[in-house]
Amino acid sequence: MTAVLQARYAPKIHTHPRTSRAFFFDRAAETMPRGALQKLQLRRLRATVKEAYDNVALHRGRMEAAGLRPRDVRSLEDLRRLPFTLKSDLRDHYPFGLFARPRAKLSRLHASSGTTGKPTVVGYTHRDIATWASLMARSFACAGARPGDVVHNAYGYGLFTGGLGAHYGAERLGATVVPMSGGSTERQVLLIHDFGARVLCATPSYALNIAEVAEREGADLRKSQLAIGLFGAEPWSEAMRREIEQRLGLKAVDIYGLSEIMGPGVAVECEAQDGLHGWEDHFLFEVIDPDSGRPVADGQAGELVITTLTKQALPMIRYRTRDITRLTRERCACGRTHARLKRITGRNDDMLIIRGVNVYPSQIEAVLIGLEGIAPHYQLVVERRGSLDELTIEVESADPGAQERVRHHVKSMVGVTAAVRVLKPGEVPRSQGKAVRVRDLRPKAS
Ligand SMILES: [Zn+2]
Repeated sequence: MTAVLQARYAPKIHTHPRTSRAFFFDRAAETMPRGALQKLQLRRLRATVKEAYDNVALHRGRMEAAGLRPRDVRSLEDLRRLPFTLKSDLRDHYPFGLFARPRAKLSRLHASSGTTGKPTVVGYTHRDIATWASLMARSFACAGARPGDVVHNAYGYGLFTGGLGAHYGAERLGATVVPMSGGSTERQVLLIHDFGARVLCATPSYALNIAEVAEREGADLRKSQLAIGLFGAEPWSEAMRREIEQRLGLKAVDIYGLSEIMGPGVAVECEAQDGLHGWEDHFLFEVIDPDSGRPVADGQAGELVITTLTKQALPMIRYRTRDITRLTRERCACGRTHARLKRITGRNDDMLIIRGVNVYPSQIEAVLIGLEGIAPHYQLVVERRGSLDELTIEVESADPGAQERVRHHVKSMVGVTAAVRVLKPGEVPRSQGKAVRVRDLRPKAS
């Protein structure tokens, strides 16, 4: 009975027009039975731990302090005994201190610009780049892209992993890449249309900027070839997804990654759009209670912790991502066996505490996008008045009643009291890549 219902109501999985079966980039890996997957994970975990211990002083020191040797890792459960790695470890060992290979053996470096101080530097061997390209190709296919598609890549090229990560993955899939990078939005609209892009890669906020510019130029991208958007590199809400899907006429798919682990392609939604498949043959995923550090049960929210299983240059042992998610190992309609991460609603670091209420920018976003006559562009301004933090929401609207409506809905749905400043259409700065959602004007702690 249940099976019949599931079959009837399961989300439709689109098959490739030229084949009758669902399309996988690497069917054997993506549909590997759990038992075989765990065997592979354990073998790779043991090799990674040994590499890290032998070649990285930080990992060796931490393991020794915990009384652990690589041979003590005998089962996947032993992962829990290993010490965490933090983002600050990368900064403290700037630039190359966590690399397990000599610099001369690396074929590429990437770096993320820290808001304060030194950037976070990551490195790749030739094999790491090849692995990343095939995981990104797998992610593209999982999202619905196919060999032969035109992929318009509006992720920024450069030290940021988004641009080159998507680029190599799309090429590996067999797609035709348009290496556009961010900016020149009018030109983006023209090329998406004229080159017949079927797939768009961008941050969700920049995708919205593209939609807005297209509408202003009178170019209806809903009538273009665009069918799939791979959007990531910033947290976004379900409401934002619906908004983008409607305005660009495509299926908006969430993709996740972080440079410390690899870059984009660590996890991605399939066409069921019900959680992101994390590629478990290359990464171990845990969700922990951020305060106690203890693992939480599947389905419970907590901080995502990732261990790399195949990275040569920069193996990561139990890296604390600061991203809040939930993990499920339930079967997915698409046939892939890899665990799914529920959509990441925010990063611990992005959480604002306003008069004792925890607020993620994506929660405010969800409220704003649901309101008639309010543009989906916003910024949150946090200031300190006396000893209290005050939140001001800047929105765009032509409606004189917008201020009170926004204040009321944010109060009732998010539970926080905020001031609202209504700006004229076009006055909130538009995203060129990663959107600036919060302007924090509080004095910096000394
Ligand atoms: Zn799936």
